[in-house]
Amino acid sequence: MKSENRLFTDVLIVGAGPSGLSTALHLANKLNKDNEKKRIMVIDKGQEIGSHILSGTLIKEKALKELLNEEEFKNLPIESEVISDDTIKLSPDGYSTLPFHPPYMNNIGNKIVSLSNVCIYLAKLAVEKGVEVYAGFSISDFIYEDGKIIGVKSIDTGVDKEGNKQKNFQEGTEVFAKLIILAEGSRGSLAKKVKNKFALRANSNPQLYSIGIKEKWSVKEGSIKEGEVYHTFGYPLKSEEFGGGFIYGLGDNRVELGFAIGLDYKDPTLDPHALMQIWKQHPFLKKILKGGSLTQYGAKTIPEGGWNCISKLYIDNLLIVGDSAGFVAMPALKGVHLSVTSGMCAAKTAYEALKANDFSKTKLSIYEKLIDESRIKEELYPVRNFRAVMSEGLFVGGFKFGIQLLTNGFCLLTPHMKKDSEHTQKLSQFKGKLFKDRFAGKLEHDKILTFDKDTSVFYSGTSHDEEQPIHLQIEDMEKFSQININEYGMPCQYFCPAAVYEEHIDKDGKHSLKIHAENCVHCKTCDIKTPNDAITWNPPYGGDGPQYQNM
Ligand SMILES: Cc1cc2nc3c(=O)[nH]c(=O)nc-3n(C[C@H](O)[C@H](O)[C@H](O)COP(=O)(O)OP(=O)(O)OC[C@H]3O[C@@H](n4cnc5c(N)ncnc54)[C@H](O)[C@@H]3O)c2cc1C
Ligand code: SF4
Repeated sequence: MKSENRLFTDVLIVGAGPSGLSTALHLANKLNKDNEKKRIMVIDKGQEIGSHILSGTLIKEKALKELLNEEEFKNLPIESEVISDDTIKLSPDGYSTLPFHPPYMNNIGNKIVSLSNVCIYLAKLAVEKGVEVYAGFSISDFIYEDGKIIGVKSIDTGVDKEGNKQKNFQEGTEVFAKLIILAEGSRGSLAKKVKNKFALRANSNPQLYSIGIKEKWSVKEGSIKEGEVYHTFGYPLKSEEFGGGFIYGLGDNRVELGFAIGLDYKDPTLDPHALMQIWKQHPFLKKILKGGSLTQYGAKTIPEGGWNCISKLYIDNLLIVGDSAGFVAMPALKGVHLSVTSGMCAAKTAYEALKANDFSKTKLSIYEKLIDESRIKEELYPVRNFRAVMSEGLFVGGFKFGIQLLTNGFCLLTPHMKKDSEHTQKLSQFKGKLFKDRFAGKLEHDKILTFDKDTSVFYSGTSHDEEQPIHLQIEDMEKFSQININEYGMPCQYFCPAAVYEEHIDKDGKHSLKIHAENCVHCKTCDIKTPNDAITWNPPYGGDGPQYQNM
């Protein structure tokens, strides 16, 4: 490898979301205070900082107030303050407003932000403090020495679909670091490798995820006020399906709305993108969106299993922060403030390790102690059994959660937690109505209120260089055909929110899979929900993927 393809840094942070950037900023602040010069690098796969960031986003500001100084905090790009917050129970044709806020769901006074814009702002502050922030580079692998991780490698480019080097081949850059911090967000691909290789999940439950589908709309004046917030539950979900919708009013007659469903559902044909389109046809939503137009679309998973699903988060030379660690507070659906807090805990750990020039797991175990003393444990521990019991449905789960509220989270009959992919049932096992029969008559798209997946993807700005190996890897195609296609009816064609997986039926009636990898919005659902864990999501070329703006 040429020397220009090698970089050396003290600290490398993979991912420029709120967790990665908070780590970088807090560490830079601490080192600058001591007049200490260390190299801190942040690398992100989005074409620009913020391009791959998608969230709600209602934020609790407290953590950012701790991270930033007064002036920096004052200039945070806030969209609006929440002025009203209602929880709405939807039935197929009607709705009712709950006369109270369910526990942890009161957002009055919280702020509405575009998380991409917040990340752009945090990255600018980090650069001013000497951090090097690079966008457009996918980190795909680790570099090992004597069984320990000592660096990472960005993906090789100029390779054709079959993996052959082309004229424009460029070997990926090797980045060697004393300390690597993984801040890749939900289902980080490097974090997944580390957790498997070093058995970091040995003492935790499997993580549970939701997929969140989000749209931004420009609406008619008077449709919704700036700062008006609604969360919905009920229709179109069944009581045993976990999830709901959100609607946030922004300035200039804009609204953001989203629908999330827990990936522990059973129906192999359930389609979360279609659920969002069905939800928008409800009179409550229709009234807000009437006369408006879609401006943006995207999707992303949320690790929502909570405290009991958090793996060990450090090994020699490496820490895991933010969503990659699983720091999302359910039932409040908030991860940003915990991402910032975990970044600050990681920065304190990195600072101590740099001072001692000791990056061993013994030294890095400070991180776990800091997490235990922070708001992360304070918020997650009392609701540690929430998501587990909610997999038993709204009524049983809601009742058990009510008891936990009185017992600081203690729960006698916690159901055994299994991976989301193991919840999907085979076509022959599933006893309910299949998705398309359940919503017959509601699955057409008028391209005004409701959209097909290809049109939606257009609104995410997604593109990929098509001359590269497919980043969605299926190890054993024969087994995939036998199990995923024949027994399960190919669930990936339904759960993928970007029409990446297509079932092809040839003239002899043989079913096979066609992959439109160029459509992928990097939500990671296929890596999580595919029966038998048959699909692995690998990062494609840096800069590929969605081009989210203000999401
Ligand atoms: C629909 C939805 C609604 C939400 N609503 C809210 C809300 O209202 N309030 C709230 O507080 N939280 C909310 N959350 C959760 C919140 O968005 C997350 O907890 C938070 O964004 C996590 O931050 P992070 O830095 O860990 O990861 P992310 O924000 O996901 O950032 C990770 C970054 O790492 C980059 N990356 C990943 N892998 C690589 C790689 N291999 N190489 C290089 N770069 C890489 C990605 O491109 C991305 O930019 C919501 C989430 C969703 C999906
Ligand atoms: S291919 Fe996988 S990661 Fe990409 S959009 Fe579809 S489900 Fe999400």
